[in-house]
Amino acid sequence: MRIIINAWPYVLAGLLAAPVSSAFAVEDVSSNLVRMPVAEQRLSARDLAYVQRQREDRSIDWVTLVRIDPRVLELAKFEIDLHDRKVVVRKQALPESFGPRPDLWRGRAALPGDPPQWDPGTLRDVRLYRLEGGGIRGSIYIGDIVYLIRPLSHGIHALIRQDLSRLHSEKDDVGDRSRPVKRPQPSSLKPSAVSESMQMETVRVAVGYTAAALNGDPLETMFADVKESIDVANESFTASNIALRLELAAWADSAGYAESGNGSDIPAALAALVEGPDGTLWLPHAARDGENADLLAMAVGAGNDAICGQAQQVGASKDTALFVFKRGCLPSHTFAHEVGHLLGADHQPGAALDPPVFAYGHGFQRLPAEGVAGWSTLMATDCPPQRCPRQNFWSSPLRQHQGEAAGSVDTHDNARVLTENKARVAAFYPPPQATKGVRAGGAAPRYVRAAGPDGPDGRAMRAIAEEPRLRMPQ
Ligand SMILES: [Zn+2]
Repeated sequence: MRIIINAWPYVLAGLLAAPVSSAFAVEDVSSNLVRMPVAEQRLSARDLAYVQRQREDRSIDWVTLVRIDPRVLELAKFEIDLHDRKVVVRKQALPESFGPRPDLWRGRAALPGDPPQWDPGTLRDVRLYRLEGGGIRGSIYIGDIVYLIRPLSHGIHALIRQDLSRLHSEKDDVGDRSRPVKRPQPSSLKPSAVSESMQMETVRVAVGYTAAALNGDPLETMFADVKESIDVANESFTASNIALRLELAAWADSAGYAESGNGSDIPAALAALVEGPDGTLWLPHAARDGENADLLAMAVGAGNDAICGQAQQVGASKDTALFVFKRGCLPSHTFAHEVGHLLGADHQPGAALDPPVFAYGHGFQRLPAEGVAGWSTLMATDCPPQRCPRQNFWSSPLRQHQGEAAGSVDTHDNARVLTENKARVAAFYPPPQATKGVRAGGAAPRYVRAAGPDGPDGRAMRAIAEEPRLRMPQ
């Protein structure tokens, strides 16, 4: 009952006291990011194919075409007509650890009638990226609905509505649950350990991809999806006081490895990664080794798979620090979720390893109740038939959300797990040396692809072509 008492005053206040006259009222704002709808006949064949591929995804509700006014991003507050609803977005400062990012506008969305003072947390996150050439890409979260803005040709943008609740549960997303986990020594976070825990650690990630993950898009489009996921993951660490950042170290194509489309592409890709540097996915492994990447990820299309990703082990070693993610699931925070597994974080009790790797290392679910919307932290799975959309932070007894703790000391403290394990994982490879110039940490990721003739089994021979460092889309 305590919860209901906490929540209802806000709801009632929203209904009775401040309907449309609140500071968030849509009517107050004249500038709209979305300028006008565009007829589908205006699309190039390539863009039309892109739109049609989006519509085939079962989690996509619809795709519509619009023009965007990027000048609106100069404002601290503006409106976005999202086709089936209008939101007002207000700018928020980026975490200091991001440094200057003129390409990124970040804020929170509000709907007409939102209760004043109500804190939706990260369930209303808005990110808008200014791309070179004037395009905009972005994501606007309204609970477990996300509206995606994707640039097409000639100034046209796709506005896509995705229902994240239709993506699949991640209950079975650990590759090797039977393997005895070498438990890292849990620290007691003594005062000396606390100062150590404040040291910023960088975990570098190499990302391989299949042709099905690329799905006919330009490389830069897929890269931008992953880059946004890394930004969002880094925001989650900041929001949970975890001194950790992910850094993209390298891209690698799959050197001929192809998905089967039979509904088990995620476990198959993970098994291929586990084969190691001499196995099928040798090229992503070579990119990892060459770029000193602590983690190795594989992007897949996996259109028929019933999960969003898979990590090899909860609490990984250097050899098992491997994960696979479905590109279409990235708006559901799948990238951060699988990274969390590798660092030792697990799901909510009941969906996690038992006995647990860390007794306190579980995700937190707040199931909905009368007058209270459900929500969950990054490592929790879904809660059908109810809804508990993921917030972009980690379970922790130190964090409050809507008047409640987002975790508990004994059971739900994945923030502690990450803090205690980040240095161990960041040390899987030494940081790249600045002496190589462009290979220094923080430089643009390297891109490697297979070169040379196909071998007798159709696989590319083991030659690597290194591209000049790709300029990531800004
Ligand atoms: Zn999981």
